Amino acid sequence: MAGATITDGRAALHEARWWEPLPGGKVHCYLCPRHCHIGEGQAGFCFIRANRDGKLYSLGYAEPAALQIDPIEKKPLNHFLPGTRVFSLGTAGCNMGCFFCQNWDISKSRADHVRATHIPPEDVVRLAMKYDCPSIAFTYNEPTIWGEYVIDICAAARKCGLKTVMVSNGYITREAFHDIYDHIDAANIDLKAFTEKFYGQSTLSHLQPVLDTLQWLKKETNVWFEITNLMIPTLNDAPAETRALCEWVLEHLGPDVPLHFTAFHPDFKLQDKPPTPPATLHAARRIALETGLPYVYEGNIYSAGAHTYCPSCQTLLIRRSWHDVQENRLKNGCCPKCGLAVPGRWMGARQPAGGAGNERHNFAARYEDLNL
Ligand code: SF4
Repeated sequence: MAGATITDGRAALHEARWWEPLPGGKVHCYLCPRHCHIGEGQAGFCFIRANRDGKLYSLGYAEPAALQIDPIEKKPLNHFLPGTRVFSLGTAGCNMGCFFCQNWDISKSRADHVRATHIPPEDVVRLAMKYDCPSIAFTYNEPTIWGEYVIDICAAARKCGLKTVMVSNGYITREAFHDIYDHIDAANIDLKAFTEKFYGQSTLSHLQPVLDTLQWLKKETNVWFEITNLMIPTLNDAPAETRALCEWVLEHLGPDVPLHFTAFHPDFKLQDKPPTPPATLHAARRIALETGLPYVYEGNIYSAGAHTYCPSCQTLLIRRSWHDVQENRLKNGCCPKCGLAVPGRWMGARQPAGGAGNERHNFAARYEDLNL
């Protein structure tokens, strides 16, 4: 279905893609594996795709609820334009129901319950260029559910030479996958656990569609992607589960995909678990390296596990402190000592004056004053 903007007397509505009409005025949204059947006047599970008069509309289109400049390492992406800023935005809503959501204030909100700012796709790109960001990230909540806006921003960004990044839970259908990811340059996909029990009980979704997305990314696109596994004490941190996850990544995606183990902090409905001990991340990283994955990182803690090392000669290649790049010794994407080519997208980024990621703006409330 083609996009079109109307108003319902309250706000501009953008007609959605990836839906079909059903008898009785309902609509079927097939953007994500939930396949919501949505009645007249109702919204899908994600809150931001709604049926008005028998048509599906994207309530998140051009209505970001969060705008910020981040270091690219925060997404996290460690092998994509390291040390650069990324213009980051997100809307309300989500298509998973994670009890431990770390961005629940927007992801669990309806579109009309957050303070959003109307920003057309071209203005997102203008803002990114104004603030010297070589890339734009769709992040904070699940960008799949506002895929129409993502695609239009990507088209505008490409015209201006900017890259685009999806930070996603990977919960998308086959029907929508290429429509979105064919426009994307890089992605970080959350692999939240490696058991269907965890996905079912703690995210209200399923594991297999996420594994499918990862394999489509590897086999059918040129998207640079990395994987994040948020480790939650006692729920998904068993060494046997970590080993099974790593073996699956190695077998199905190969050794070039970086894997990030990140620390959980109690949030939203999961307040009865402690923060992830650093020792858990260290142990997971050791398991991954033993399995044969060479690019394994620890996140949300201060650790030498944040650095990139040459898997051939062990030379320190990129030194990081939390999300800041302190030193990058790669030469044209290769180890300066042994010459090994390190997989990633290293070239073509404009380095902003004064370094990247050190200057952070949260200017959602000031968009009107930006004088583009
Ligand atoms: S994108 Fe939203 S409305 Fe569509 S199927 Fe998924 S949860 Fe339901």
